[in-house]
Amino acid sequence: MKTLLINGRWQSSHDERVIDIEDPATGQVFTQVGRGGAVDVDAAVKAARNAFLNHWGSWSALERGRLLCRIGEEILLHAEEIAKIESSDTGKPLHLARNDIAVLARYFEFYGAAADKHHGQVIPYVNGYNVQVVHEPLGVTAHIIPWNYPSQMFGRTSCPALAAGNAIVLKPSEEACQSVLYIAKLMQSVGLPDGVLNIVTGYGHEAGDALARHPDINLITFTGSPVVGAHIQAASAINQVPCLLELGGKSPQIVFADANLDKAIPAIVGGIVQNTGQTCSAGTRLLIQQEIYEEVSARVAHAVSSITVGMPDAGAQCGPIITRAQFERLNTLLERLDQSSIPLIAKGKIIDVQAGGFFVPPMLYGPVPRDHELARAEAFGPILAAMPFEDEADAARLANDTDYALVAAIWTESGARQQRMARTVSAGQFYINCYGAGGGVELPFGGRKKSGYGREKGFQALDEFTTTKTIVHCFAD
Ligand code: NAP
Ligand code: MG
Repeated sequence: MKTLLINGRWQSSHDERVIDIEDPATGQVFTQVGRGGAVDVDAAVKAARNAFLNHWGSWSALERGRLLCRIGEEILLHAEEIAKIESSDTGKPLHLARNDIAVLARYFEFYGAAADKHHGQVIPYVNGYNVQVVHEPLGVTAHIIPWNYPSQMFGRTSCPALAAGNAIVLKPSEEACQSVLYIAKLMQSVGLPDGVLNIVTGYGHEAGDALARHPDINLITFTGSPVVGAHIQAASAINQVPCLLELGGKSPQIVFADANLDKAIPAIVGGIVQNTGQTCSAGTRLLIQQEIYEEVSARVAHAVSSITVGMPDAGAQCGPIITRAQFERLNTLLERLDQSSIPLIAKGKIIDVQAGGFFVPPMLYGPVPRDHELARAEAFGPILAAMPFEDEADAARLANDTDYALVAAIWTESGARQQRMARTVSAGQFYINCYGAGGGVELPFGGRKKSGYGREKGFQALDEFTTTKTIVHCFAD
């Protein structure tokens, strides 16, 4: 299977090995991808280095930006095709896939327009000196992306890197890379030079590991689990290259007694069922002030029980879990929950699905004890944990009481409390009376604690994919 893109040429892995890929809606093999390894990664890094040194590195920011904008237009022209590929590969309903492709196009538009606006500085220094701080690309950047939002993740990680002038080697998740392969072909058709974007499909422990350890990369960016994030850091430490890590979350939705519940409830439910819960920033902990605990959990339960899960083209709100491994992990968690004394308050409906598919209905559990795994560990499925709190201090303590700190939201009409909580709760993004940003291409995003470090999205991503040089010029005699 020619799913590896190296120096502009689509090819099989050097030893022709392949990986069978399953359709999550049926559990049946529907295609294969090349199983790249260290040899392929090495060829891809060499191609990227050559492109950077020989042509891409001397393109002006304006030229790079124009190319990204043209690709964004091409993506919009082919949006429906890409959405269909994304939907059948990941099992996500078509309406969600369409939204993902709209966000993908935004990444190209945003970073295409931003490429020539990442300005440096002039620093006042002693008389007779002119000091400039200029941004320069890092060189070759390595990108390892997961399966939950393949096309959005591709845009999020590659657009700022390319806008900044780097050449890329990317390892998508073999489980969901069909849209990425299609987008790469579109990019070539619009004029992306050979070697600027290289793709090595394959397993994480083979191609991903070889990429992370490669001595000729200048940065590695990874989105996935904290366990693999630690491997990536160990590999990058050997070569002393920076990491950008996005490792998930256990994000709280904090509902105070004075909240506007008509506004809060749909956002809380949307924040957990979106992409069948397979979202790093999913609002997985529902923290409710004691005096409205019964009312809020009953209203959320009512909404959760009306959610439908079905085949990607059946008009349901949720599709299957994307990978068999994740489906099995979730099922073992659900078995443990069955054996626990935590009440299952509500469950959504699975409608007209085929046997063998990886379907899990959304669920609301509560009250969940504060030390239970459902209150602390990322489940990465549509499972919401309701927990009561006493007062503002207790809410803040509970919100911060996990290893993660990615996103948080607060629902209250008190302006003073909104500001206090915004400063007390640890998170990379904090929402007040809303949740999530529908892609939020413009908004810096990333974690603290075990959610990782570094910032993607917005102008901040351009800082991550560049380094600075301070140029000191003495013009005095
Ligand atoms: P994962 O193991 O962290 O994998 C993410 C990516 O890293 C995949 O492309 C994977 O390739 C690759 N990888 C795996 N081992 C590697 C290694 N030693 N060196 C370099 N790359 C490696 O995530 P997962 O198994 O797909 O899911 C496990 C858990 O991760 C989930 O339950 C969830 O909690 C979390 N997760 C978080 C996000 C997020 O957006 N933050 C996304 C996905 C998963 P392979 O596919 O071949 O393993
Ligand atoms: Mg797939």
